[in-house]
Amino acid sequence: MSDPFVVVGGDAAGLSAASKCKRENPDREVIVYEKSEWISYAHCGMPYYIKGEVDSIGDLLSLSPSDVRERGVTLYRTHEVVSVDPDSHTVQVVGDGKQFEQSYGELLIATGARAFTAPIEGTDLDNVFTLHHMHSAAALRAFLTPPDDADDSIFDTGYVDLDKQEYFEREPPETVAIVGGGYVGIEMAEAFRAWGLETHLFQRSGQPVPPFGDAVAERATEALQEAGVNLHLNTAVERLDGEESVERVVTDDGTVEVDCVLVGIGIRPNTELIEGTPVTFGESGAISIDEHGRTAAEDIYAAGDCAEKDHTVTGDPEWVPLGLTANRAGRAIGQTVAADPEPVGEIAGTAVLKAFELECGRTGIIDHERAREAGFDPVSETITAGSRSGYYPGNAETTVTLTADRESGRLLGGTIAGEDRAAVRINTLATALHEGTTVGEFEKLDLAYAPPFSPVWDPMLVAAKVLNGSIEAE
Ligand code: FAD
Repeated sequence: MSDPFVVVGGDAAGLSAASKCKRENPDREVIVYEKSEWISYAHCGMPYYIKGEVDSIGDLLSLSPSDVRERGVTLYRTHEVVSVDPDSHTVQVVGDGKQFEQSYGELLIATGARAFTAPIEGTDLDNVFTLHHMHSAAALRAFLTPPDDADDSIFDTGYVDLDKQEYFEREPPETVAIVGGGYVGIEMAEAFRAWGLETHLFQRSGQPVPPFGDAVAERATEALQEAGVNLHLNTAVERLDGEESVERVVTDDGTVEVDCVLVGIGIRPNTELIEGTPVTFGESGAISIDEHGRTAAEDIYAAGDCAEKDHTVTGDPEWVPLGLTANRAGRAIGQTVAADPEPVGEIAGTAVLKAFELECGRTGIIDHERAREAGFDPVSETITAGSRSGYYPGNAETTVTLTADRESGRLLGGTIAGEDRAAVRINTLATALHEGTTVGEFEKLDLAYAPPFSPVWDPMLVAAKVLNGSIEAE
């Protein structure tokens, strides 16, 4: 019998691979090692749990350990894989107070990413959080909840880090600083405002959510300000100060007194485990893989937030750490290991974000410099159109930017922002990018129309018409 398929990491990519492999080949032994207590959890739901919109932290779990075992997968929680030896096809595992060797037939690195705080001093003070772990989500929700209302039944789950128990007894903060105006910062601004906190958001550049481009940033800025967030743009946080707990944020533009800080300035791929092996890394620092998720080391695969993927527009490897791609790549690798090779698929960098009531979406290449680096001659147009027929209740202004290559007319990317179901409209464009559609072809798409859902000309079609017109006029 062959050595088992060993998976490092028990969340989106890792468990998708393990489940798929076992389903396709029930005789294959599949072992998952997860270093934390948590498996199969929804990072993406953490801001909404902290806000109180999702009631229980247990609601963020998709599969329980017994669900995984029922699938025939052997699961070890609180077991960390600490080294990999590609020559002997073995890994070293630490768990239950022991270290032992595990051999593998194939190995999947699905170790995800971690929050990055390095440039900022003082992040080890009390009441300073990052949001890349369920422990932080549990502690933050507990901290925001008045002690009399705290739901300490969470400890009965056996999951929560007892070190964080003190947050169940602390008086809630009144003023919070969010460092970083990316996805996590914006989603957490909504959560903090929902608890009534005076909220300061510090962003080093001149606009929030840089990956969504100028037009979305402008609308997101308005949305944040209308919701009462104190936006400090072009402001770099230098350090966090305090005795034991954080007391103030020191920036290049002065000091703000706070009693809680959330740092959301980015993430880094967890790749230390396989450094020093033949596995190679891309410019992003994430693991390089081929179309089936294979790394440069024999029988070692990588998937999810620790790995790059090929971009559907440029064809180049890019690091876009998001949920669907982690699940899909894991599933494909499970299939490849069990039976037939299955490509992990390309990415378009499609992402959506809620900034209070504003829905934002982006896909493809929207940055002109990046497009030029990839050999395109980019041209963009931005329009604002209604989301429904003008006379129909709920019609809302929707801003769309489309970018295409001037010479071929090929669509390269775009963004959308609006309060009425704007975000999901980005999927029309994402589909077109995967097909290599030109802006002329996109303009001719037969999209749905009825007054409660869309005007006759969907905002995406309006943008295509304007962009095509401006390319043809040149
Ligand atoms: P992870 O989910 O990070 O899992 C990796 C696992 O590996 C972890 O459980 C870790 O403990 C374990 N591990 C690491 N090293 C070892 C080791 N040596 N031994 C054993 N185990 C190890 N994506 C979206 O598409 N949409 C969203 O709205 C969205 N919102 C998000 C909101 C937040 C606050 C965050 C933090 C992320 C969000 N994401 C979102 C990103 C999404 O959650 C990730 O892309 C996805 O979880 C990646 O899955 P993964 O399996 O690659 O990594």
